[in-house]
Amino acid sequence: MTKIRSNPQSLYIHIPFCKTFCKYCDFCKYFYDEKISNLYINQLLIDLDKYKNYKFKTIYIGGGTPTSLNLYNLNRLLKVLTKLRKNGCEFTIESTISDIDEVKLSLLKKYRVNRISLGVQSFDNHNLTIMGIRHKEEDIYNKIKLVKKYFKNINLDLMYGMPFSKEKILKSDLNKLVKLNPTHISIYSLIIEENTKFYLMNLKTINDDELRKQYDYIVKFLNKNGYKHYEISNFSKCNKYSRHNLTYWKNNEYIGLGLGASSYVDKQRFKMTPNMIKYLKGERIFEVENLYNKDIFEYYVMLGLRTKYGIDLNYIKKNYGINLIKNNSFKELLKNNIIIKKGHKITVSPDYFYVQDEVVIKLLNN
Ligand code: SF4
Repeated sequence: MTKIRSNPQSLYIHIPFCKTFCKYCDFCKYFYDEKISNLYINQLLIDLDKYKNYKFKTIYIGGGTPTSLNLYNLNRLLKVLTKLRKNGCEFTIESTISDIDEVKLSLLKKYRVNRISLGVQSFDNHNLTIMGIRHKEEDIYNKIKLVKKYFKNINLDLMYGMPFSKEKILKSDLNKLVKLNPTHISIYSLIIEENTKFYLMNLKTINDDELRKQYDYIVKFLNKNGYKHYEISNFSKCNKYSRHNLTYWKNNEYIGLGLGASSYVDKQRFKMTPNMIKYLKGERIFEVENLYNKDIFEYYVMLGLRTKYGIDLNYIKKNYGINLIKNNSFKELLKNNIIIKKGHKITVSPDYFYVQDEVVIKLLNN
């Protein structure tokens, strides 16, 4: 990447190692290997050195499973990252339930990581086994009890739409989840992607009506339990929104380092190589997308309408010279209460959040 002219406020670090693979997962990941992870962190540290004079408002270490790293590698990564924190920085790390322990938690605390995101997915042992997840229901309670000694800001991921599960299990999962009282909840519907074990097993997703029913139930349930639905799949309590993910949804700039990571800076989107051998040899850029004003406008609309903050008509007019209000599809969506206008802010009506992508297509294809 050439020298950056703008001033991105968010940093994403990708750690592509996992100790076992979940059967639904198509992320960029490799089986954990100590030698390769040493070499990988060496490369990451070379990249991070280029940003040694930056300060970020949010730092997010995702994966893969960042906590699959051994203490030596975790320590040398965190030691560098903690110096890149701006005051009040939201500093997040992802983990599985199985890969977190008290020693790693105290290391995270030492380097002032202040948010943790844990993949619970389900409390049902049968579901967990089918998905190829190592933890069991009892482990979730034990680990979260431990995590709470070190973290106040905790996200838990939950999965729905599993064809091998039952409605009553989803309801019980949700009850158990809110009892743990996390500050943030992310929900994901099971999608059978190619290159996953579920795809090879010929597993089929549940039908759209059933999926929609489950989504509506989750939204209602979490709202009733004090969680604000601020993005299609995300809920939070006590204003503990994911500030890092809001960077993406507000179409603000960010740097992404590590295998397959993306950056958005200076009107360009970059993707790093997803090939480990090339990455370890020092190759980086895999794809570059040059963005014109029209593309940036479309990203702004597409991402902004995912959230309860929506998009700003004045901002659009000022930055992209587009008067959205004159657009015929805009008028039609507004008339049918599919989008809501409050002053110059536009949001998707909560009833249509689930089909937000269709609303965006309609709005942009005037
Ligand atoms: S732990 Fe996360 S990244 Fe690793 S295989 Fe499971 S879902 Fe994928």
